[in-house]
Amino acid sequence: MTLAEIQEQLRSVRANYNSRKAADISAELASLKKAAVAAGHEEEAKDLCCLEQTLSIQEAYLKAFAQMKAGHYYEGWCTLEVVENAITWLLPHYSPFFEQYDLKFIQSAVQRFQTLFPYKQFISPEFLIRSKKCSICGKEISIRKPCGHSVGEIYKGEICCHLVSDIEVIGTAIVTNPSQKYSVVFLSDPVTKEKKDQYNYAVIRYLASRLKEPFDGWSHIVTKRRHPHSRYAFVGRNEKCPCESGKKYKKCCLPTEGVLRPHIQFSFAKPPPSGMPELEYSV
Ligand SMILES: [Zn+2]
Ligand SMILES: [Zn+2]
Repeated sequence: MTLAEIQEQLRSVRANYNSRKAADISAELASLKKAAVAAGHEEEAKDLCCLEQTLSIQEAYLKAFAQMKAGHYYEGWCTLEVVENAITWLLPHYSPFFEQYDLKFIQSAVQRFQTLFPYKQFISPEFLIRSKKCSICGKEISIRKPCGHSVGEIYKGEICCHLVSDIEVIGTAIVTNPSQKYSVVFLSDPVTKEKKDQYNYAVIRYLASRLKEPFDGWSHIVTKRRHPHSRYAFVGRNEKCPCESGKKYKKCCLPTEGVLRPHIQFSFAKPPPSGMPELEYSV
């Protein structure tokens, strides 16, 4: 495989995502990069490193999509975060190419999927980092003793990061805007201690089943809409209003024409698979 052929494989991901052999492309890129580094071609090695990242972003997005389609929502959520982090890293090196490998589509889709997940609370550990090392030169780093390499920069085709070698967890907090999205708060079974997934994935389930392919276009609008009172006949007048305002039903939505609930309206670029309803979904 030549470099031009690899670039074409990455550019036409929409058409070939199902048939291309990512492992072969990855192996080719690694061997081209090795040769570039051996020849001292720093810029070429850097470009190849960015192509490797592009391939892994595309593959991770495809994996996240497949996980959501298969109903593995938490796994899909974690993979979406992998994609998000990899894009954040690649962006400063790569802005001219961002459009051509469908990275822009992926970035936007990942953000939109993330906002539709039901997770609102996360565990955030607080760390005390005792020592860390540079991934490029292996030297111990401190604020007073920098090694000269910058995190996120590419040296000899490798991304520089800091490897933490000694860490102490000093506490945890529950937060709504975590630095690591995978630390979702789950309940556990009081008897077996097994993890229980208490979340309602109706929106993601609908979206994933409605989309046939990972690069199908879609958008959504979040609004509120009044639902008929007949749906909430089980709620008493003096109980809390089903709109979750915290007020009593009789003092909130009951005197109005319906219960105000979040409403998500999706638009899709392609018609639905047969048997599926078009357009709207309420939660
Ligand atoms: Zn270093
Ligand atoms: Zn209400």
